[in-house]
Amino acid sequence: MGLMEHYLAHITLKSPAIIPRRRSARGYVGVKDSIPGSTLGGAVLSSLRRHNKIDTKEAEELVKSGGIISSPAFPREKNKLYYPSHPFIWKCKQPGCRRYVTTIEKVLNLLETGSELSRDIIPLACDEGHRSPEKQQKPLPASTLLHGGRTDKDMDECRELEFVESVRFVSVPVSRHRASAIVGALYYYEALPTGLEYWAIVSVRESIVSEGSYEIRIGRGVSKGFGKADLKFKKINLERLQNKLTQKSGNLVLYTLSPAVFRDEDKVIDLRSYMGSAGKHSAGLLRIKSVYGVSERVGGWDLMRNSQWRLDNASSPGSLVVAELEEGGEDCAYGLISLGLQGMSLDFGEARLVGLNMMLPAKIVLGDVLAS
Ligand SMILES: [Zn+2]
Repeated sequence: MGLMEHYLAHITLKSPAIIPRRRSARGYVGVKDSIPGSTLGGAVLSSLRRHNKIDTKEAEELVKSGGIISSPAFPREKNKLYYPSHPFIWKCKQPGCRRYVTTIEKVLNLLETGSELSRDIIPLACDEGHRSPEKQQKPLPASTLLHGGRTDKDMDECRELEFVESVRFVSVPVSRHRASAIVGALYYYEALPTGLEYWAIVSVRESIVSEGSYEIRIGRGVSKGFGKADLKFKKINLERLQNKLTQKSGNLVLYTLSPAVFRDEDKVIDLRSYMGSAGKHSAGLLRIKSVYGVSERVGGWDLMRNSQWRLDNASSPGSLVVAELEEGGEDCAYGLISLGLQGMSLDFGEARLVGLNMMLPAKIVLGDVLAS
């Protein structure tokens, strides 16, 4: 695989982007809160190709060897990162209240001591006593995910507002076979508006990219001018992440930043496998015990085979994974950080998927260490 470098990517949309939730008969409908990692990774690769930083052969080799890996991109507002919500946060339904309630600290304490979760981790009311908390799954700032309360600016509302203003594009599809317009067949696009910002973790084999700006095109309709974006890479300070971990052996709660899949054969993670990509000693065995999250379907495009892939039972980003770490110490901390930043590549028959199971210790995510 070669040595990997880890970057925090800052993406700013320069033209409306079409990242559809689903495709209906009439067009691409809805917009997503996050951009899939495979979409972002593909966009970075195309940008490198377009600017002749790598040739076709190198691009293929990078994909094949897992030399480029991206987490999904989550919303960002200036320097504030929004993280996928964990399952233990609720939003008050009372009109005008908008308070978030969370029991995450209690949950982490219970899980780390190996206890079972009991019913009282589901709150009955918000801090104002409204008895109407409702599960919520939108990305939120780390401080809200940890403490609840009201956000200074609710991404939910701010997005809804922009959504109204967001353009509904109509275009006339051209038949592939006849290369002529199909009269009367209109196509609708709902697009994310210009100016929205996102962040993601992107790991790339060394000497391919560097800190600085890249122009990328992301999502559908790039040939029609959609999805122009500016991407800035900043190196992630690994030592700062590592210093937050005084990793002891025993129970550990991890926070997923990508879709996660744990088949029986993926339930024991050997952290020594990151030695080659980290260039440092990495040690430890991680045994996955349980996963708390929402199941989702993830799909992407296999660049090598030019075919689509789909996983039906992945758990969505924001899931909590309880694991037991055998051994401890600095080398384990290094392995855990590597697992978080580049995840695992898993084989599904012919296909090898990268960018799954990216998960960092919950205290690093909720402590907003990536933003610092
Ligand atoms: Zn309330």
